[in-house]
Amino acid sequence: MTWQDEYSAKIMKSAALPSRELVRGEGCYVWDDTGAKYLDFLAGIAVNALGHAHPVLVDAVSRQIATVAHVSNYFANPPQLELAARLTRLTGGDRVYFCNSGAEAIEAAIKLARRTGRPRIIALNNSFHGRTMGSLSLTGKPALREPFEPLVPNVEHIDSTIEALERAIGPDVAAVVIEPIKGEAGVIDLPEGYLAAARDITARHGALLILDEIQTGAGRTGTWWAFQQAGIVPDAIAVAKGIGGGVPIGALVTFGAASDLFTAGQHGSTFGGNPLATAASNAVLGEIERAGLVDNAATRGEQLRAAIVGLPLVEEVRGRGLLIGVGLSDDVAPAVVARALELGLIINAPNDASIRLAPPLIIGDAEIAEFIDKFTAALTHVSEATA
Ligand SMILES: *Cc1c(COP(=O)(O)O)cnc(C)c1O
Repeated sequence: MTWQDEYSAKIMKSAALPSRELVRGEGCYVWDDTGAKYLDFLAGIAVNALGHAHPVLVDAVSRQIATVAHVSNYFANPPQLELAARLTRLTGGDRVYFCNSGAEAIEAAIKLARRTGRPRIIALNNSFHGRTMGSLSLTGKPALREPFEPLVPNVEHIDSTIEALERAIGPDVAAVVIEPIKGEAGVIDLPEGYLAAARDITARHGALLILDEIQTGAGRTGTWWAFQQAGIVPDAIAVAKGIGGGVPIGALVTFGAASDLFTAGQHGSTFGGNPLATAASNAVLGEIERAGLVDNAATRGEQLRAAIVGLPLVEEVRGRGLLIGVGLSDDVAPAVVARALELGLIINAPNDASIRLAPPLIIGDAEIAEFIDKFTAALTHVSEATA
């Protein structure tokens, strides 16, 4: 029986059959079950910030699991307190709620919004906030939502323009939830000045500004958090993905008065903030800081962008730092991804006309040179095949 047979027989049909089975990783590379090696420019969808099997993360997780892995939230634990201090320091926030995934961080944000006593929540068209019923309610993709309706009521999706937000806002709006860059939509930037305007509009109407930094956070866009490039202070940010470097963890960080909305017993999670996951996150964020990987994301991102502009089929390059969207002139992104895989390069197509790049933050000259080589070859192949 092949792994494909096993997968098709036993994995829930909610997932499509993958193209490869990966068995091992090291640095910016992974290997499949046939021994083929791949340069990983997706990093588990912006998760493996330190790449694969980074010794700092391996060591921290190994030491923590041999010390104490889980204690429940009836007990405090040192790695959790250390991570709360680290996240509030790095964000400028005041309090942290720990959970296990991005969707769970958004669920916490929805419950936080409910605590304002106001009924409505505004989210953006084409956004992605997760697949659980609450987070799906905010996700601005009707095709994902419709099979599961009815969802959480009083959620409205609007276009990503300042005028649309001005029209939709009112005294009954609890929160506006925004991705600083829409990752799943194909790495789509917000209009210039949008976050600053959203901060101003929500503040004027007493609504929370909640940012989904699940994909943009942990240094990926060239600052610790994408909101810092807009010079604003949000009321809350949802984080996950890169903060754990591959170990499941999520968090909601609140700022100012939003930090007092929950009272004891109103929210929780068995695994949330457990010592194993928080020790992993401390190691990842500590190493990002020690090794200067936020600056590396900014400079390597510029280097990549400059090298991608002008390649065959490339129409535009979007995003910031090491969250890059490549807009193609044709709906051939899946073919480019397939060809890249054959050439030993992992990239992703969030839609038919976009390639998403989210490599580990540790990439250097050698990985960039290899990427450009293989990406150019994949684009050239598909461009010639469709000409
Ligand atoms: C991945 C992602 C989520 C959902 O996170 P999960 O850990 O898959 O639940 C939510 N919002 C954004 C912007 C994401 O990229």
